Parts: sequence; C-alpha cells; structure tokens
Amino acid sequence: MEYEVVIGMETHVEQNTASKMFCRCSAEFFGAEPNTHVCPTCLAMPGALPVINRQAVENAIMVGLALNCQIAAHTFWERKSYWYPDLPKGYQITQYQYPIASDGYIDVDVRDTQSGNWTEQSYRKRIRIRRAHLEEDTGKLTHIGGSSFVDFNRAGVPLIEIVTEPDIHTADEAYAFLSALRDIVRCLGIGTGDMEKGAMRGEPNMSLRPVGAQQFGTKVEIKNLNSLRAVRDSIVCEIKRQTGVLNSGGRVQQVTMGWDDAHGVTIVQREKEEAHDYRYFPEPDLPPLDIDAAWLEAIRARMPELPLARQDRYTQVYGLSAYDAMVLTRDCAVAEYFDRAVTALAAGKVDRKAAAKSAANWITGDLFRLMSSTSVEIAAVKVAPEQLAELIALVDNKAININTARGVFEEMFAGGRSAGAIVDAKGLAQISDTGALRRAIQDALDANPNQLKGYLSGQEKLFQYFVGQVMKATKGKGNPQMVQNLLKEALEKRRAP
Ligand code: ADP
Ligand code: MG
Ligand code: ZN
Repeated sequence: MEYEVVIGMETHVEQNTASKMFCRCSAEFFGAEPNTHVCPTCLAMPGALPVINRQAVENAIMVGLALNCQIAAHTFWERKSYWYPDLPKGYQITQYQYPIASDGYIDVDVRDTQSGNWTEQSYRKRIRIRRAHLEEDTGKLTHIGGSSFVDFNRAGVPLIEIVTEPDIHTADEAYAFLSALRDIVRCLGIGTGDMEKGAMRGEPNMSLRPVGAQQFGTKVEIKNLNSLRAVRDSIVCEIKRQTGVLNSGGRVQQVTMGWDDAHGVTIVQREKEEAHDYRYFPEPDLPPLDIDAAWLEAIRARMPELPLARQDRYTQVYGLSAYDAMVLTRDCAVAEYFDRAVTALAAGKVDRKAAAKSAANWITGDLFRLMSSTSVEIAAVKVAPEQLAELIALVDNKAININTARGVFEEMFAGGRSAGAIVDAKGLAQISDTGALRRAIQDALDANPNQLKGYLSGQEKLFQYFVGQVMKATKGKGNPQMVQNLLKEALEKRRAP
C-alpha cells in the first residue's frame, strides 16, 4: 500500500533576551553553575509576583509578523497546570485561548539537504502556521545514578512556541522548515536558533495514511532532536517503522518517541497518557496584554528584510545564482555586508548587476574561505564592505590584476589595512596614483627645458620622449594610459596663455 506522510511541527524557540520572561534574572544561563540565575519569582516562592518582559513580547510579535500571522490585539496569560519537578510553580505561564500570533504561513525552499543545492527536484513550499505563542521555559533535570538533580537557571526563560498545520509531507520538507525558521530567528536577532544547545527544539508529530484517504492516521511525536540532521533522519526512520507496522496489518500506537542518534533509531519514550487535564485558567497575577496598532506598526517598521525575500531580490534583480543567493542571505549579517559592498561599488558608477556579481564572487569565495580557515564570524571581519569594494574597483580599473588582488585581500583580512594602503606599501600604487604621476611629469618637464621648448614649438614627436622619461622615473609602473593623459594635460598648461 502507498502511504502519504503527514507531519505537523511544534517548535520551541528560546529567546536571547537579557532577562527572563517574568523576572529580572539573567536569561543568559548557558554554561553557568546550576541554580545561580534564580530569584523568588522563578523559584515560585509564595508571594513573589511576575512582571511581563516587554522585549520578549516584541520578539514574539516580530516572529509572528515574519510568519505572516495575524497578531492578536488582545491576549491574556493562562496557567497550564501540571506537576513535574522542573516546573517549580506546578504550572507554566503560557497562552492558550489567544496566542499572540495565529493563522500565518512560511514559504520554504526544499533543497537537497546534503549539499544545500537547488536541484531539479527542488521546489518552494508553503507551510501554514497555526499559532505562535509566548511561554516560559522549565528548569532542567539531570539523572545520575539513582538520583535526580534539578537546575532552575532555565526556568522562566522566554520561549516562543510555533505550531504548524500538518502540511509537511517529507523529511526534507521538515528539514527545510526548521532551517528556514532558524534563519528567521537569527535574522531577527531574537535567539541563537542553535538546536545543538537546545535553544531551538523541533518536535515532529507524524502519521501515515493511505494515499487518497481523508482521515489522518494515529500520530506519533518525536522528541529530543538536537540537530536538523536528527530531525530529518528520525522522520525517515519513523516512516519506515510505521510503514512496516501498517503493511503487516498492525496499528500505529499513539506514543512519544525519542531519537537514539548513535544507532540512528527512534525508540518509544512513553506511551501516550490519557489526555492531560491542564486546567488552563487566566493567570490572576498578570494583567491582560493589549497590542495596539501604534505599537504593532512601530515593530513592523523595525523588521529587517527576511532571508527568502532577500534571496529572491538577489536572483531576480541581480541575476545571482540560486546557490549564491542562498549562502549570501541565510545569515542576515552576511547579506548586510554584501548589500553595503554592492552599494559602495555601484556608487563608483559600476553597473549594479556587475557590482553584485563581483561582490558575490569575492564574498562566497575568498571571504568565506578565509573566514572558515580562521574561524572568524562575519561580525569580526576586519575588512569593511566598502574596503572590499575599493579593492574590487582597483581590479576593475586594471590598477592591479586579480592575482595581486587576492594576495592583497588576504593581507586586508589579516590586518584590516585598506587595499590602497597595502598596494602603496608594496609599490603597486604608482600605476594609478595620479599624484605620484603628476609629480614625475612635472620633474620630467622641468629637467628637460630644451625638449619642452621643442614640443611647444610644434615638435609633436617629443611627446613620446616625455612618456619615456616618466616611465623611467616610475620604474615602469606608471599606468601608460594615465601617463599619456596627465602628460598631455601638463604640457598644455605650460603653453603661454
Ligand atoms: P496535541 O494537542 O497533541 O499537541 P495538536 O492538535 O495541538 O496536538 O497538534 C500538534 C501538532 O501535530 C500540529 O502541528 C498538528 O498539525 C500536528 N498533527 C495533529 N494531528 C496530526 C496527525 N494525525 N498526523 C500528523 N500531524 C498531526
Ligand atoms: Mg502539543
Ligand atoms: Zn528569577
């Protein structure tokens, strides 16, 4: 039997706000000693009251806007009750009836997940977003031997939970979705999106149904996936397992699976308990949250251009390849760098398309190579995009050739000096340095008064004599065309008015 795979993704994005969701504790807890980022509020001491973190709310609104959602004008907080040792209050403050964002969508490019390349099998896909809401994270339990240890540093850190409609149908689409979401989170600057560190956690809900069937099959949830690759591989594994169960006449049980990365298999983590009775009710200690139009518009105005929109602009307006456009846009800081280099180059009246092509070549080639060999992030690159543009212009103007330029760029990358300064220091600058050429020309004219008189009285062939003198003085490095032009100019100035 042929089955259709149906997947809906629940993703938790941990925010990188300075403080926690409802208290002043630092939310930057990674690597900190256990229970050092805690206070009466996030430890749930009696009488301690929560206060809403404005930045966390704005971040959630930004994510909602990026996911083309409706933003709620009115929401309130609710208590989701359940008892677990890493949840000190015995309930989680979350949003249930009125998520801050709902009914959106995200467009993602489903590429080859190994190479990142856009191939003949690649396509763009729209995945509907059911809701995105704000909540607080739990603490963390560690089980060692027969004991359990709890660390509340993470308790109360702001989370955004994003739930899709069951629109995902392959492991590659799930991979593409999370990858695109991670790029957006990073572009908005609201979180690291690092799945490896648990700062973004994607949990696929998946089921199979006979192709053409209306009703969904029984769903299985996969948890504890700490990389995009693990999400993709666990889904592939689970498709095989569920297909096997169904083909042998069995029924898929509703369970929560874990992922054994070392063996590459899903394992049953727990049988689905009876549906939880979370007893949601309005949080009495917090006021409702109203988001008025002015606030919403102010946030919308601050939204950066998002990766996919940028990517399309680069392919459609600049004619870049799909691959170049992707690698330049998945990190917004790289895209900013590229945009600034193109702007600087185009200001030097190079055609914008040509400027984009050469900036893209330099950035995806030499810059990325040097960044990866030295483990330098784009933010720490010492070459300003305008300085890269200056170097490219030197090549375009034929002041230096491409091989010289690549060497110069390596020096720029290491030392942060400008192309001009390096070319000067290496004695390559004379070729295009008009000041130096003008001085050499004046010297040649002053040193040869007879030839000058001869030229001015009509002996035109003496022009070549002066060209020779200037070239000699510049040790052959004068740009011949510039020498000719500047010499003509200087000779005309010597004519009596
Ligand atoms: P729960 O209440 O168990 O969390 P939800 O109805 O909230 O379940 O759905 C959670 C996620 O699972 C959503 O992304 C949804 O699209 C997806 N989903 C729901 N039912 C199925 C199913 N039968 N197969 C695959 N995905 C499903
Ligand atoms: Mg759920
Ligand atoms: Zn606290």
